[in-house]
Amino acid sequence: KPPKQITNEPVKAFAGKDTVEWDLLRASISKFKSASLDVPLVIDGKRIYYNEGGRSHFKQTNPAHHSQVLANVTQATREDVKKAIESSKKAKNDWYKMPFYDRAAVFLKAADLISTKYRYDMLAATMLGQGKNVYQAEIDCITELSDFFRFNVKYASDLYAEQPCESSPGVWNRAEYRPLEGFVYAVTPFNFTAIAGNLIGAPALMGNTVVWKPSQAACLSNYLLLTVLEEAGLPKGVVNFVPGNPVEVTKEVLADKEFSALHFTGSTAVFKQLYGDIQQGVVSNLYRDYPRIVGETGGKNFHLVHPSANIPHAVLSTLRGAFEFQGQKCSATSRLYIPESKSAEFLNDLAGTLSSIKPVNTSASKINGGDLHGFMGPVIHEQSFNKLAKVIEEAKSDPELEIIYGGNYDKSQGWFVEPTVIKTTNPTHKFMSTEFFGPVLTVYEYPDNEFDKICEIIDTTTEYGLTGSIFARDRDAINVADEKLKYSAGNFYVNDKCTGAVVAQQWFGGARMSGTNDKAGSSNILSRFVSIRNIKENF
Ligand code: GLU
Repeated sequence: KPPKQITNEPVKAFAGKDTVEWDLLRASISKFKSASLDVPLVIDGKRIYYNEGGRSHFKQTNPAHHSQVLANVTQATREDVKKAIESSKKAKNDWYKMPFYDRAAVFLKAADLISTKYRYDMLAATMLGQGKNVYQAEIDCITELSDFFRFNVKYASDLYAEQPCESSPGVWNRAEYRPLEGFVYAVTPFNFTAIAGNLIGAPALMGNTVVWKPSQAACLSNYLLLTVLEEAGLPKGVVNFVPGNPVEVTKEVLADKEFSALHFTGSTAVFKQLYGDIQQGVVSNLYRDYPRIVGETGGKNFHLVHPSANIPHAVLSTLRGAFEFQGQKCSATSRLYIPESKSAEFLNDLAGTLSSIKPVNTSASKINGGDLHGFMGPVIHEQSFNKLAKVIEEAKSDPELEIIYGGNYDKSQGWFVEPTVIKTTNPTHKFMSTEFFGPVLTVYEYPDNEFDKICEIIDTTTEYGLTGSIFARDRDAINVADEKLKYSAGNFYVNDKCTGAVVAQQWFGGARMSGTNDKAGSSNILSRFVSIRNIKENF
């Protein structure tokens, strides 16, 4: 049985209370930096490398140092994807018939391996591959990842333990939580190794088997995660790892009759496309089930500062919300509303604090090998860099926009974009509604006496509803924001930044076009991966 008390895994790398074993971390970093690891497909537990059968491969490079190849990743062919699907079907029966606590033991063991034996390898793979500093990597691939595995076990145990159906004399009613009948397709993002873990882990824990398409930019850490799960006892075929061309892999998966669920984190545009394709498959009788669609997508998340707010606190929260993780979080703060009366104080303080954080190019030469404390890392890849550079150039020529901090970018060594703050005179400008997924924050100064109106503008400017914060000491203002922004954010924060949801503490996910709001880190998400059978027995 799992331990009764499950608590959040502590972060080792908090400033001031740093217990990171730096020598171990440095050793893992040099190992991965010099290795250029070959990452295989894993189908039915078998490794398939790109030099077999003339498969092609792609390179995962270090975003802070783009000439460094970290991994040569085997690219799945359509035939490989078919085999991965077959393997998922084959492994299903034994896996779900296994007693729940045996399945749970795999994830509990994996969480322990992640936070002990493989801690520094996991950190190094995530730092190097996904451009994170040590704090960010700890929060991601150690604490959040092991929290997902452990809390999912707790929530599933509660679900299985309680029989919700009433019985009556002579009648025994029961609900049986079967896994879905077919297989689950997990499409996972680059920005959090932990999210990949949950997208495969939650359905697998409930007895499902999974075809996993990792992000091409995160294959190193994601493959390592799979090997940890295998060492923890994950039977072959339960999770089949098929990196490759997203369109090709997805096409093959969605063409299978036994496709039963999509578990997705990524862009809104891709999710909308898949949503439509799946509906189409249903209408044309392609599938046996109505596939479950569980997705977490984009955001244009707000910080709303009231005149009564504690300004230094709101400034620091905004800096962290917008620029930590290079703004590459679905939850990142990307639009800021400040009252005119506090604007000068707020923006001066923000610029001052920003100028004291480590400049990006310090990290370029030293991070991922030297300065493991640097605040700003690179953005993930060239495509993202180019998109952000274009956004910044657009801001320079638009009369409604003014860059008030940053605005530089440099790709000479890595994909570095300076934290950039842009002021707009138009609260509904497209910079206030379009997600950029990078370190770019747009600010609007609102008249102090138009607080209610600005709430309405916040609510209606974007298609998203992921995260948002109100900063205020005035309780009435908090109440107004709470009411008027009811559906503007699935995660609403009062006097805190709109990022950094902790598993089991702040269930994570948004509605509207930000996703299906099934809440990672809660029992709700697990219930999406079961198909309930009701049994009535007379005796
Ligand atoms: N759960 C993370 C947070 O609250 C964000 C995850 C994401 O970017 O998808 O900041």
